[in-house]
Amino acid sequence: MSTLSPTDRAADALRGLCGGDVHLPGDPGYDAARIPWNVSVDLRPAAVAVPRSAQDVVDVVRAARRAGLRVAPMSTGHAAAPLAGRVEDAVLLRLHGLTGVSIDAERRVARVLGGTIWQDVVEAAAPHGLAALHGSSPDVAVTGYTLGGGLSWFGRSHGLACHHVVAIEVVTSDGVLRRVDATHDEDLFWALRGGGGGFGVVTAIEVALLAVADVHAGLMLWPGQMASEVTHAWARWTRRLPVTVTSSLRLLSFPAMPELPPFLSGRQVVVMDAVLQEDDHSARLLLQPLRDLAPEMDTFGRVPADSLTRLHMDPEGPTPSAGGHVLVDSLPPAAVDAFVAAAGPGSGTSLLAAELRHLGGALGRSPRGAGALGHLRGEYAAFFVGIAATPEMGAEAAADASRAVAALEPWSRGRVFPNFAEEGTLLPHAHRRRDWARLRKVAASVDPDGLLVANHPVR
Ligand SMILES: Cc1cc2nc3c(=O)[nH]c(=O)nc-3n(C[C@H](O)[C@H](O)[C@H](O)COP(=O)(O)OP(=O)(O)OC[C@H]3O[C@@H](n4cnc5c(N)ncnc54)[C@H](O)[C@@H]3O)c2cc1C
Repeated sequence: MSTLSPTDRAADALRGLCGGDVHLPGDPGYDAARIPWNVSVDLRPAAVAVPRSAQDVVDVVRAARRAGLRVAPMSTGHAAAPLAGRVEDAVLLRLHGLTGVSIDAERRVARVLGGTIWQDVVEAAAPHGLAALHGSSPDVAVTGYTLGGGLSWFGRSHGLACHHVVAIEVVTSDGVLRRVDATHDEDLFWALRGGGGGFGVVTAIEVALLAVADVHAGLMLWPGQMASEVTHAWARWTRRLPVTVTSSLRLLSFPAMPELPPFLSGRQVVVMDAVLQEDDHSARLLLQPLRDLAPEMDTFGRVPADSLTRLHMDPEGPTPSAGGHVLVDSLPPAAVDAFVAAAGPGSGTSLLAAELRHLGGALGRSPRGAGALGHLRGEYAAFFVGIAATPEMGAEAAADASRAVAALEPWSRGRVFPNFAEEGTLLPHAHRRRDWARLRKVAASVDPDGLLVANHPVR
């Protein structure tokens, strides 16, 4: 008598697809294939499939539908946390085998295959003097980032990255590959730009690039004891900045580790990093109020735009993490005090980083023809993250992150930026009411049976 469950039997129908790169529970490759970038998230899908072409994606979507399974696209697994406990009846479609970049330098457009990471785009664009609207991490994928909006170092001057999408190739839940843009399948094109991954599996995306070869950028670092003074100064500083400056401030608490450089190992520090699209003289004048606080390290200067993927020193490769996030309307002195008290030195926090990113400028306005996420509804994004090497550490980091988010409550309205939201249920708090209603309508039309499992469900 067979000991296979009905789900196992259904998943068995996928064997042989993707050139054999399909892994079922019990297969030798299953465990390696299901582990996301955030390795603390334990995903147990019915199968893992690793497509190498758009046709492979079509085949998997059709086979999953026939077998009664759902489909969960994943490029890197940076945002795997909201999928926990939701993929047992799904094929995890890992897109890391579907990668590649081609640059049309004349049109300033990159065509990027579905699972490509930003670092690959940046390296392909730089020889043409072009820069991309990537975020702080080199190994976040273009697709997941852009579907969730995309907050880049050029955000205050150029808005969300999803406004710079030219076209998207997507396999919808009926197993059909479509190319959507401003004049073809307008509703779907609108939804994909900021509405998340619930509308289809993206096999390629075309994004506009910026004619930026270099910028004035760097970081300043102070000892943790200066957390309050520096955060107050940074909050005041951001109120007067032109849109050419995008910056972040972090309170960082590092464990003592030989892998870390001595200036970070076992220390609490305050780090401010920024990109200034200004000439060097103007940039120096703009930075002076923070330089007056005598940072112990100051790396600002003219740098090639392709170095910006590593400005923030985000961890690369698999990382166990847990965190929390909220958008903040303003940072008056009482809000700064609450932020530092919740996550700064002396707070007893387990968090590795308590971060504030300066928004506003073009991030605060919806441009004509915008997609589902037109702008971010806050002047700052607060983001808290801890290392989740064990489930206990993960629970402690999540609790400390929630406490820090709660501390900022008087200055927030519970609104979120999809890309920073660790919980799947938060998406209604990211969009305007009428945009949320339209997203639900588009989802019901392109995926009537709810085949797709996205990190942030719309339905
Ligand atoms: C260290 C770190 C730094 C970050 N920095 C920034 C930043 O500076 N700015 C910013 O905006 N965000 C940032 N993020 C958030 C990041 O953009 C989101 O986590 C994003 O969802 C990651 O996309 P991904 O494809 O790499 O991750 P995944 O977990 O693979 O994907 C997330 C979701 O996107 C959808 N998706 C992914 N690929 C596809 C596809 N091919 N087709 C259809 N749907 C797909 C799915 O719904 C999936 O659940 C950061 C995250 C981390 C962990």
